[in-house]
Amino acid sequence: MEAKICRYKNNAKGAFTFVFDDGCYGESTEWVYEIFKGIYEKTGIKFKATSAQTVGFISPRLKDRWVELFEQGYFDLSAHSLNHCIGYNKNTPSEELHKDAKSSQEELYKMYGIKPLTYVTPGGGSDEVGWNALKSYYIANRNGNDRINIPSKIDWYDVGTFTAMLKRTNEEYKNNIDEVIKMGGWSVQINHWVTKKDEDVFHSQSYDTFVYECDYLAKKAKENEIWVSSFNDAVLYLQEAENSTLEIKETDTEYEITLVCPLDKDIYNYPLTIEVKLENTATCVDILPNQTIKIGK
Ligand SMILES: [Zn+2]
Repeated sequence: MEAKICRYKNNAKGAFTFVFDDGCYGESTEWVYEIFKGIYEKTGIKFKATSAQTVGFISPRLKDRWVELFEQGYFDLSAHSLNHCIGYNKNTPSEELHKDAKSSQEELYKMYGIKPLTYVTPGGGSDEVGWNALKSYYIANRNGNDRINIPSKIDWYDVGTFTAMLKRTNEEYKNNIDEVIKMGGWSVQINHWVTKKDEDVFHSQSYDTFVYECDYLAKKAKENEIWVSSFNDAVLYLQEAENSTLEIKETDTEYEITLVCPLDKDIYNYPLTIEVKLENTATCVDILPNQTIKIGK
């Protein structure tokens, strides 16, 4: 018998994440919700994107709608500063960095009753000084560059990105997904909004390419080539997988497999997929950190 922790959930070859920045684009958010809901109803594949929210951008009316959206399970929450003006770098005094990091988390918790585990630095120009301040409050930070993340090489406070843009074609979105699968990587796509207009504002993505991209992702997810995950879930999965080991005990009739995870169990409670090979059959099962499962011989 052989058992291993899979690189991604369901033993998919790659992973893909949508992060929608700022949290304030009402009409676009409704379209995204409708598209995700349609995919779920058609294919059974449930997409969950991450909404990275700037506290000062969320009006009371928007807040009420986000409460409903989080409950539906198509979005989860990340922090994206108090007012979007702060530079997470050496030019900002340390007290200001800590105040923003801590207060963003507290304010979002007050609004939603959800404590954001991850951060998304606003604007460009963040550096190690800024990321160090985030380490006291968050388990990961999404940062700038266009690239595909490879699990064993991720710097958790500088998670790389692929930026959605109006001028990108269906082909470019498809190629990014194909490359992710081929490389066994994780792509984190920055979106601001989805638009039905022809003018680009803050890296918008056209409605049509977004529909195309989601359909292609759903097809690849159905074939188990890619795992479409929120930012938070992917971070939990990858950090747990990186730190855990499998402990296997054998009796006359069965194997007992325990996922040993030394990380804080109040945070790290996301199920990992393990692959168990018995003679010629391979089976995948999901198991929680520090849980034991029994497999008959
Ligand atoms: Zn932003």
